[in-house]
Amino acid sequence: MKEAEQRIQAIYEGVKARNPGEVEFHQAVWEVISTLAPVLQRHPEYTEHKIIERLCEPERQIIFRVPWQDDKGEVQINRGFRVGFNSALGPYKGGLRFHPSVLLGTIKFLAFEQTFKNALTGLPIGSGKGGADFDPKGKSDNEIMRFCQSFMTELYRHIGDMTDVPAGDIGVGGREIGYLFGQYKRIVNRYEAGVLTGKNPSWSGALVRKESTGYGAVYFAEEMLKVRGQELAGKRCVVSGSGNVAIYATQKLQQLGAIVVACSDSNGVIYDEQGICLDTVRQIKEVERGRLKEYTNHRPNAEYRHGGDIWDIACDLAFPCATQNELNESHAKKLIANGCFAVTEGANMPCTPEAVDLFHEHGIAYAPGKAANAGGVATSALEMQQNASRDTWSFEYTENRLREIMVNIHKNCHRTAEEFGMPGNYVAGANIVSFRQVADAVMAFGVI
Ligand code: GLU
Repeated sequence: MKEAEQRIQAIYEGVKARNPGEVEFHQAVWEVISTLAPVLQRHPEYTEHKIIERLCEPERQIIFRVPWQDDKGEVQINRGFRVGFNSALGPYKGGLRFHPSVLLGTIKFLAFEQTFKNALTGLPIGSGKGGADFDPKGKSDNEIMRFCQSFMTELYRHIGDMTDVPAGDIGVGGREIGYLFGQYKRIVNRYEAGVLTGKNPSWSGALVRKESTGYGAVYFAEEMLKVRGQELAGKRCVVSGSGNVAIYATQKLQQLGAIVVACSDSNGVIYDEQGICLDTVRQIKEVERGRLKEYTNHRPNAEYRHGGDIWDIACDLAFPCATQNELNESHAKKLIANGCFAVTEGANMPCTPEAVDLFHEHGIAYAPGKAANAGGVATSALEMQQNASRDTWSFEYTENRLREIMVNIHKNCHRTAEEFGMPGNYVAGANIVSFRQVADAVMAFGVI
């Protein structure tokens, strides 16, 4: 074991040296490879073929200029990215993130995570991620459209239903996917429905895709609770964020009888003792594209804490559904002290490594994003299936498929953690299952 651990440490040092300053990418890599020593021990062929080294190096990284004009006619310049991380299991697959904080390292961390997440779904999809340092906040609809059109004017040559299939992520939802698809279709002169997912169901999209990340996370939590002889009904939940993942996680939790008492945006926190009114949140975020502080205008008994910390609020179950590293060690301490016993990541890498260590030390059921939020990309793969067969499936059928996929992911992670002597450690379980799957495909293709 010692030898395998040293090898992994050396690989990690190499990753840091070759990717200076990309701390989130380093964090994501370490989180995966630090759990792989037992696998290297059982499978010396992975070392011989340098599989970990290969999985830590993206297959391709594209960076491009995105010029556009704002409503005043002023020229604006942003930077666009698309990283194809691994295509052993299928075409590159992963979302686009539009957020001012986006750097190459952000996209690489997300694309790396996507490799393992996508493998966990059991569906034939490789991994990728993209985006831009564009801030959609406060932009008019026309500005969003012009930005998306300019972004796609470069991106189109790199994507395709057999090559790379983008979708949404933070800052990219149904509206943006519409503008991106429209521009793609116009440039290539072909209606290639399978080139993007997250499309509106009224024109080639799949039912349930919008809901799937949030719903899937709740299904995963339900399975974790079952193992402990518990159920969701009656549990007090805190769901951070108020974007697509948070909204539909809340919806499914409410459908299953849980009480969601808080949500948040980057300005503050809403605490609604009676349970969050989702119609109000959806009206503010999806229709008016406003800020959560407006919630109390509709629900005067609720409390808005400007600059507040959502993890201060006592709960049984926490669902970090906002963004990376939003839940740190001190937040974890507070959650544990307040009686929280399960944490399910709807976002990508929302808990810091120190927080995760604390959860494990205290026997908290902790579901890493790559397992718990895989329902989104899994339903994207179902959208690709529908596009390839020019078919449309019902909501009920698609949701059943999603649920089945999440139950399987949970089962595989749980079983593998036990098999490797780490019962209840979903991080190790998820990493080992998915690593083995990608590794075997990479080996089968030879040195390419
Ligand atoms: N951005 C989502 C994720 O983090 C979905 C990606 C997709 O559907 O391709 O998994």
